[in-house]
Order: sequence, then structure tokens, then C-alpha cells
Amino acid sequence: MADKEKGRHGSPVLLKVLTLLADLKSTPSGAIIHGHIDQMLSALVADHQRTEEAYASFLDMLMEACVAQTPAGSSLHTHMRLMQLRLAPPLSVPDLGMLSRSVEAMADELGQSGSFRGADLAPMLTPLIERFGGLEVSTPQVVHPMPPEPTTDPRSEDAAELRVNTAYRAHLDERREEMHKLHQDFVAQMGDTVAESQSFGRLLDEALESLQQAVSEEELEQRRHEIISALNGMRDGHQALGEKFSHAKEYLSIIEDDNQQLTEELDRVRLLSLTDELTHLPNRRAFLRRLEDEVSRVQRHGFPLSLVLMDLDFFKRINDLHGHSAGDEILRRYALEVLSIFRHHDLVARYGGEEFAVLLPNTDQQGVVRALKKVQQRVTEVSAAYNNEPAPLPSFSAGVAQFRPGETSNSLIERADNALYAAKRGGRERIEVSDPDSPLLASRDETTSS
Ligand code: GH3
Ligand code: MG
Ligand code: MG
Repeated sequence: MADKEKGRHGSPVLLKVLTLLADLKSTPSGAIIHGHIDQMLSALVADHQRTEEAYASFLDMLMEACVAQTPAGSSLHTHMRLMQLRLAPPLSVPDLGMLSRSVEAMADELGQSGSFRGADLAPMLTPLIERFGGLEVSTPQVVHPMPPEPTTDPRSEDAAELRVNTAYRAHLDERREEMHKLHQDFVAQMGDTVAESQSFGRLLDEALESLQQAVSEEELEQRRHEIISALNGMRDGHQALGEKFSHAKEYLSIIEDDNQQLTEELDRVRLLSLTDELTHLPNRRAFLRRLEDEVSRVQRHGFPLSLVLMDLDFFKRINDLHGHSAGDEILRRYALEVLSIFRHHDLVARYGGEEFAVLLPNTDQQGVVRALKKVQQRVTEVSAAYNNEPAPLPSFSAGVAQFRPGETSNSLIERADNALYAAKRGGRERIEVSDPDSPLLASRDETTSS
């Protein structure tokens, strides 16, 4: 019966059912039916509890295995331990739903990848840790940091960057843990130092007081000995204190160095995620961020804003004829010597392989076309050098779109892209301007070709 009650208490819904049926007990046959229902429900609750316990111990085993894989003392380790504690039954229905969704997502991921990749599971673990791990997790945590994988597909650029950043973050987390420990040691040492200093102070006070009260010569002699031994003790103590302080100084300089390293590494992470390595121009991610900012600015203030998408003509041929490094050299020349003629508040970014995006705030259609003509002229003046010979730069095609009030940044990009496509179709080495009134067709009126 005690078990039965325990079971019922664990299930308020079933308890409510029995309370609702309590009236049945007023007649003898009703009481028998009530007894049957009571028994059935109790059996059901007991079954349910056994299943819950089986799942809980299975979950606990899994968690134990996960915890064993995380470095002891790390914040992830602590989060996992908290999760383990909080995942004990009974769980609320939303908690159960969230848990089951996460497990399903991880199962899908494992099924698709065919192998265990801790880094890929990290984003799925994050909401779980946030919900059950006791603290908010601001960055995806990794069970096992995976090295960044080489990628050639620009569409997977974001994924690769995420992996790089995730591995970096795990590394930074480790460094932070070390610093935290150093800091704690330092605080503990300072605590010891202060305590010792206080106890020497007290010793000195006592010695002085007894000296003042001494009258006879023996007493004075005795106090003298006491004071000498107290001062000797103090001297030793001060020596120890000095050593501790010099340790503390060392700790401080280690902490300072680590802080510096951490700052530099964070800068590198930031650069890595916003800069294109080959041309050192802002990458697509940086461009899209700035575009969002500029679009919301022109939405508010109504200044003109233009976007250019440029694509080098027949670039593949250069790779095919002179090798990939020749292609790379051309991209660098373009970035360094051709596109540098845009104004400093225009944003020039590497948008993809041999494609560049230029965002020109406060510039209208005519202004953009004028700037692009200068760029065309510049292309003919600059040459690249590969295979020990100077070679001309390839021409480019460009699509221009001017921001229309109310449109989204995606629509602006799409119109510039359509104009670029029209420039390619029209024979290349051309500038096409998107007609604001017919967003899907680029206008030929504004077209200039050389
Ligand atoms: P189109 O005039 O139609 O643009 O022709 P295209 O040959 O320029 O265009 P396509 O899209 O056929 O080829 C683009 C080439 O750019 C293929 C790709 O290998 C090359 N590419 C992309 N990124 C890089 C890079 O970083 N370095 C080098 N060397 N080549 C790259
Ligand atoms: Mg091209
Ligand atoms: Mg292209």
C-alpha cells in the first residue's frame, strides 16, 4: 500500500481521477468498481515508474560516459554534471519534449554522418546544456574539439568557419580555466599573507605590553628574550612573506601574459571569421553584416545606397592555362591594386571565388557607373606577374542595383546578381544596371560596354 501511495503521489493526474470517482464508494457495488479502478491505476503507475527508472538509469549511464570525456574541472564538465543531476525523473512534459527532440536530432546527425563527430553534435548539445546545465552557454561547447576540415565549397565556408571557431573557443575555454585557477591560487596566497601579517602584529603588541609592565631586572631579561625570539620569528616570517609576495608577483605576470595571449587569440578568431585569407579583403560574412547595417540605416534616413557584384571574365581559363597560383595572384592584384580605387567608405569584399561585392553608401546609379568605368580603366593599367612574365588582368562584368525603399537586403543582392547575369549574357566586360521597376530584368538603357 505504501508503494501504491508513493506511485499515486508521483502521478497527480491519476490521483485526481480517483478523487473524481470517490463518489462511487458510497454504494457497495460502486466501492468494488472503485477498488478495481484503484488497482488498475496503481499497476499502471508502477509500470510507468519502472519504465521511467529504466530510462533514467540508461540516461545516467550515457551522461556518465559523456562526463568522462570532458576535462575534469572545465566549465563543460560542471555543466554536464549539473545536467546529469537535473535529468533525474520526474521530468516535466516540456523538458521531456526538449530532451526527446535533441536525442532525435543527434540520432539523425549520427545516422547521416556515419561516424561520431563531437563538433557537429555541439550545437544540439547547447540548448540541452542551457536548459539542464544550470548556466547560460553563450558559445557552442565541444565535447571533443575537431580540427577544422579543409573545404573548397564556398557554400560550406560558414560551416568551416564555425568549426574553426568552435575549436578555438574550446581552446580559449581551456586557457580561461587555467587563468581562473591561477587567479584563485593568487587570492588564496594573499589571504595567507594577510593572516600571517595580522598574527605577527598581535605578537609584537603582546611583547611590547609585557615590556612596559616589567619591573624587576629578571623580568626585563625574560621579556628581552621573549622579544628577541618573537622578533626572530617575525624575521623568518617576513622572509617567508617576501617569498610569497615574489611568487604572487610571478603569478601576476603569468596572468598578465595569459591575458595578452587571450586577447591576441580572440583578435585572430575575429579576423579569421571576417577576413578573406587570400586577398585580405572582408569576406562574404563581413559584407553581409555591413549590408544589413547599411540597409537599416537607409531605411531610416533615406540616403542612396548602391550595390555592385563583380565577376572576373573567363577566369577559369587562367587557372587552366597558367595554374591555380596564377589565378590566386590575379585575385590578389585585383584586391590590392584595382579595387583599392573605391572610396574608403565603400566596402569592397570578396563575395565568392572570383566574385567581389562593393557596397557604396550615399552613391546613386550614375556615381556607381562612373566609379566602375574608372575601375575598368585601372584594370588595363595593372598587370600581374606569373611564370616570370607580366600578364594582363582579365576584364570583369558587373551588375549594379540601387536600394529601393522598403526592399530587403536579399532583394537588393538578387537584383544586382540578375544584372550581373545579364552582363555575362550580353557578352561580358560590361556593366549592367538593374531597373528598379522591373526587379527581375536588368535594364539595357544604362548599359555601358567597352
Ligand atoms: P565567366 O566569365 O562566365 O565568369 O567565366 P569564369 O571562367 O570566370 O567562371 P566559372 O564560374 O566557369 O569559373 C570560375 C573559376 O574560378 C573556377 C574556380 O576554380 C576559380 N576560382 C574560384 N576561387 C578561386 C581561387 O581562390 N583561386 C583560384 N586560382 N581560382 C579560383
Ligand atoms: Mg567569372
Ligand atoms: Mg563566378
